[in-house]
Order: sequence, then structure tokens, then C-alpha cells
Amino acid sequence: MALTLTRVCHSSVLLDFGGHRLLTDPWFSERPGYLRGEPLAFTPATLPHLAGVLVSHGHYDHFDVDAFATYRDKQVPMLVKRGIGEAARAAGFGNVTELDFWEVAQIGETRVTATPAEHGVPENTYIIERGGTTVFFGADTLRIRELDEVAVRFPWIDLALLPINGLMIRPQHDLRVVMNAEQAAELCSVLRPRVAVPIHYTFTAGPEGDRNLLRYDGTPERFVTAMRSEAPATRVAVLAPGEPLAMPDVS
Ligand SMILES: [Zn+2]
Repeated sequence: MALTLTRVCHSSVLLDFGGHRLLTDPWFSERPGYLRGEPLAFTPATLPHLAGVLVSHGHYDHFDVDAFATYRDKQVPMLVKRGIGEAARAAGFGNVTELDFWEVAQIGETRVTATPAEHGVPENTYIIERGGTTVFFGADTLRIRELDEVAVRFPWIDLALLPINGLMIRPQHDLRVVMNAEQAAELCSVLRPRVAVPIHYTFTAGPEGDRNLLRYDGTPERFVTAMRSEAPATRVAVLAPGEPLAMPDVS
């Protein structure tokens, strides 16, 4: 099935399967210490009709439930990491399903499998399958060995959305919480997607937060370079928010 994807910002991506549209990790507002660093392609008011929403974890920059609560359809099916369903329901969403690793949910003809992640708080990545097209959504996980199992269970992946900023939380010792660009490329050598799109790389905590709290270890340029040696058969598309990528129908 043909698929058009559009980055909204950060890890929020609109996946459009011929009018059946899924949104990942909604983030629409900003706060001190949480800046997008790139434009926002849609607001909750300008989003097209959504068939479903996938949420990887409860961090504000992936689950901006207060801002997303202004979206017009509170019955939109929402798949979330187990443990954060209550927050979605409290914000007024009425069709919320919690998933843990390898649990499966159906949104119409779309099959969603929660896949492993590690990020310091409970998190899922996801495999999304519809009409013979398979997408891996990498949220902002670390590169953990458990992700190798995704390639075993889903040997044909059309599109991988992978975080690349290698975020580290610094005060005393640098604690890495997101894979870096080279680790994302190495993961591509295992998943072997047809197309890879980097996500999660323009976020900043502002000048003070960046100086005192966080470190970043990854850019799209580094991902493109690493992919040339790690996964040369995969096409890399670096997309600005709002810049659509149409993937041809191969099924
Ligand atoms: Zn996070």
C-alpha cells in the first residue's frame, strides 16, 4: 500500500496510508527547557482526520496530552505504553489501549505491535503494518540488543523512523538515554529497511539547559555518513517538518 509520511516535529510523524492516517508521539507546545528547534508542521487544529495515535512513552515531548486534548475527535483510537493510559483518559480521550512489548492492537486494517525500547522510563517502539507495508517507529529509544528481535519477527521493513540525537543527561556522569547517529545506522544494518528517516534531532533545552543539563551526540549529517557504510542499500531521507515523502506501493 502507498504511504506518505510527513514529520510534524521531533518524533511526531504523520503516516498517511491512502487517507488512513496515524500520528506518532504528539508534541505541539513548548515549555522552558523543551524547545523544538524546528517548525511545527501541524497544530491539533490543522491536523487532518486521524485514524489513530501511537504514543511511545509519557515524556512531555512525546505525549503532550494537554495540547493534543484540543484535537477535535476525543474518540480517536490511542495506543500507549502500559501505565500512561490513565493520563490519556484524564485528558478526555475515550478509546485508549495500553500495550507492552510484543502485544498487538488493531486500528481498522492496521496492525500495531509494541516492540522493545529502553529510555529510563517505560517506553515502546512500534511496528505498524497495513496492506503489506511495514513501518518501524523508533521513538527515542537506546540501541538495545532486544531490537534485533524486531528484524527476526519482521524481516521486511519498508520504512524505519529512527532517533539519532544520542541525548545524554549530564550533571555528574553522562547518562545516555537515546541512541546516537552511528547506533541508529547500525540498527538499520539489522532492520534493513528500504527507507530510513531520522527523527528526534533538533530538540534543545535552550542555551542554559544545553550548557548545564544535556549533551547531544548525533546529527542527520552523521547519520547519512554512517549509513553509507552500515546500510548502503537503505535510502536515507532527511525531511524538514511538513515536507512529505511519498513511498511507492511495492506490495
Ligand atoms: Zn523521552
